[in-house]
Amino acid sequence: MPQEAHVYSYSAVLMGSPILLKLFQHNEHLAHQVFRLIKHYENLLTVNRSPSEVMNINHAAGLHPVVVNPAVYQLIKCAKSASLLPNSVFNLAIGPLVKCWKIGFQGSSVPPADEISTRLALTSPHQVILDDEQHSVFITQAGMELDLGAIAKGYIADRVRDFLHSQQVFQGLINLGGNVQTLGGASQMRGTPWSVGLKKPFAGPDDLIGVIEVEGKSVVTSGTYERWFEFAGKRYHHILDPRTGYPLDNELHSVTIVSEDSVDGDIWTTLIYGMGVEQGCACLANKPGIEAIFVTKDRRVVLSSQQLFTFTLQDSSYQLAPQGS
Ligand code: FAD
Ligand code: MG
Repeated sequence: MPQEAHVYSYSAVLMGSPILLKLFQHNEHLAHQVFRLIKHYENLLTVNRSPSEVMNINHAAGLHPVVVNPAVYQLIKCAKSASLLPNSVFNLAIGPLVKCWKIGFQGSSVPPADEISTRLALTSPHQVILDDEQHSVFITQAGMELDLGAIAKGYIADRVRDFLHSQQVFQGLINLGGNVQTLGGASQMRGTPWSVGLKKPFAGPDDLIGVIEVEGKSVVTSGTYERWFEFAGKRYHHILDPRTGYPLDNELHSVTIVSEDSVDGDIWTTLIYGMGVEQGCACLANKPGIEAIFVTKDRRVVLSSQQLFTFTLQDSSYQLAPQGS
């Protein structure tokens, strides 16, 4: 009888997030290399301290272009393209608003309306000028700031997967706090998927609506319940609407994207969250590699399609609604 392989878990806190790595071998050295790789990218991409390549760009806003590492350049280019899609709510230049709301950080508060409108004027993605030859990024207006918080974890999860592949590791899981990338299945027996919990909004950390099962896929969730604060009886969460400067407000509590690459999952959670259920399902109808699981405030779970995963509802206070309903 084949013996069930043991899963070894390694954890760390990086990017202000709990990081979990699962391997089928006890290999502290490999786990250490993975955490070092994540730290390397955090140091390039963070906007929470200086120096970093992204902070160098932000400090030079309105002054001069900054030449950056090719990987950083490609990620910024990808983030700019997502920001310029028609009706996109993804905006790589959202930094001035993120910094004044401070949601998820100490001192979060509702900014005065005039401060929000002043900062909104400093968030045009068109003002982020890229030079493919120089690999330089120039933010044309002083006071503008890039923020890659909605894409960088996805990008890094994919780099961890690629690194593990380069080390001949084809089974495992990396969770960067809401961004899960799986390699292969959850056992050395073929056809055993990984189980990823779909969290119940505003409940305990182990309270699940249901379970998503995948093999070799990314599962990324963006929700209103991860980073938020309450003021005068109203909740304010960290995904901001670049059209208003206030947290995005629609029928959704969360969007989960299942896809091959986690960077796509990270971008599409934000894009689809902005679209809502109906428009989101219509948009994904032509995108077979990107599938969404919506959790609505009125306790429906809507699946855009279901080719890449299986979903089992566990909480009977939620209703599994037919696609697009
Ligand atoms: P997503 O929904 O994918 O993205 C939301 C985040 O994207 C927001 O927090 C904001 O940063 C940004 N954002 C908001 N609205 C928009 C919009 N409309 N378009 C585009 N982007 C938007 N957290 C800490 O507490 N301390 C740290 O030191 C810290 N360092 C980090 C370093 C790095 C390199 C990264 C990638 C993240 C770090 N974080 C840190 C977490 C970060 O602040 C975000 O909270 C996190 O990236 C959000 O990821 P998410 O998947 O939960 O949310
Ligand atoms: Mg995202």
